[in-house]
Amino acid sequence: MIKEFSNLGLKPELVTGLLAQEITVPTDIQSLCIQEILDKKDIIASSKTGSGKTLAYLLPIMTMLNDAERHVQAIVLAPTHELCVQVYKQIELLVQNAELKNIRAAVLIGGANINRQMDRLKEKPQIVVGTTGRILELIRLKKLTTHFVKTIVLDEADRMFDVKNIESVKAIVKTTLKERQIIMFSATIDSETKLRAEELLKNPSVIVANKLSDLPQNIEHIYFECEKRDKIEVLKKLFYAENITRGIVFLNNNEDIENLSKRLNYHSIKSAPLFGETLKNERRNILNDFKDGRINLLIASDIVARGLDIKDLSHIININVPESSDLYLHRAGRAGRAGEHAIVATIAEPSEVRYLKKFSSFFKINIAKKVISQGEVAEPKKVEKNNKK
Ligand code: ADP
Ligand code: MG
Repeated sequence: MIKEFSNLGLKPELVTGLLAQEITVPTDIQSLCIQEILDKKDIIASSKTGSGKTLAYLLPIMTMLNDAERHVQAIVLAPTHELCVQVYKQIELLVQNAELKNIRAAVLIGGANINRQMDRLKEKPQIVVGTTGRILELIRLKKLTTHFVKTIVLDEADRMFDVKNIESVKAIVKTTLKERQIIMFSATIDSETKLRAEELLKNPSVIVANKLSDLPQNIEHIYFECEKRDKIEVLKKLFYAENITRGIVFLNNNEDIENLSKRLNYHSIKSAPLFGETLKNERRNILNDFKDGRINLLIASDIVARGLDIKDLSHIININVPESSDLYLHRAGRAGRAGEHAIVATIAEPSEVRYLKKFSSFFKINIAKKVISQGEVAEPKKVEKNNKK
């Protein structure tokens, strides 16, 4: 496997530009995908969260963009507004750092002002990033021309192929050239997604850079056992015991998100809810407050949190045991992204503990039982001994 960006056939300016982000060595998924994408192959690629999938597709695409031609040549589709903005920001950063003065990009997402997006399209971007709904809307309004699109990326591909997105994805693909290239990226690609992909992709190369069961090594997994009614109390104690400055709390049930945030704020724990219905601007403010430390806990649903890349995230807290190993992986994968130490803590009811045991053997990780004693996270045994004294 080629282990240098300079030997992968990328535009040299991009490789130099990456240095400004202190990115010097390609990750496995980048080494494996970049040339395939440059060869115009369709691919289905998966690698664990935080392994650099965004650049794995952006670098070759930016290399292939013809900056003399002023029409859309590449479309990146992603499931959430945040993810689209994140990818867009990475493009802008590359454009700036590599000084690609003639490359324009646009982010096209619902909930944001469509007129502004139309104005942006008048500047003739070569690459657009967006959600399926808004992109389709702009195509139908004839504000977005897709006849020259050579590459379509489906980021978080398994979500792009779910019932909510699949029809729109197909509709968008249909508006593009027959010989377009489609590339799919996700941390997990299930058999259903593969089947649907076969309808759209041409002899795709399947690239797996990491086994599904790979979780970042630098993450510590722990759990607390308590009755359902005591969960919030345990969360509060954990928050103070660990002095958490930046953590994400996951709930299985969307309806409880706002409520939990209110209760925590009532107890002076600075938190904010983030879920599908949160308005666009509000979401951006919340994420900024979170990144800047004005909010310590983000209370989130699985859907909005997918793919978020937030630095210095120290804790992932599951208020309920996630419903599947995939979800455990996706939640845990929000943390420890740049090799930082992080803790994934699950607050489980006695009846949920057996599911944790399943994840533990599936991922070959130790999920250690802990208790909170005298304001500190401690081993359960020691506490029992102390109590006996
Ligand atoms: P994924 O989509 O696989 O979950 P991202 O593309 O969001 O991961 O990347 C995660 C983080 O890793 C980002 O902060 C990104 O800047 C960084 N990153 C990407 N490629 C490299 C690399 N080759 N070396 C170091 N850091 C990288
Ligand atoms: Mg990603």
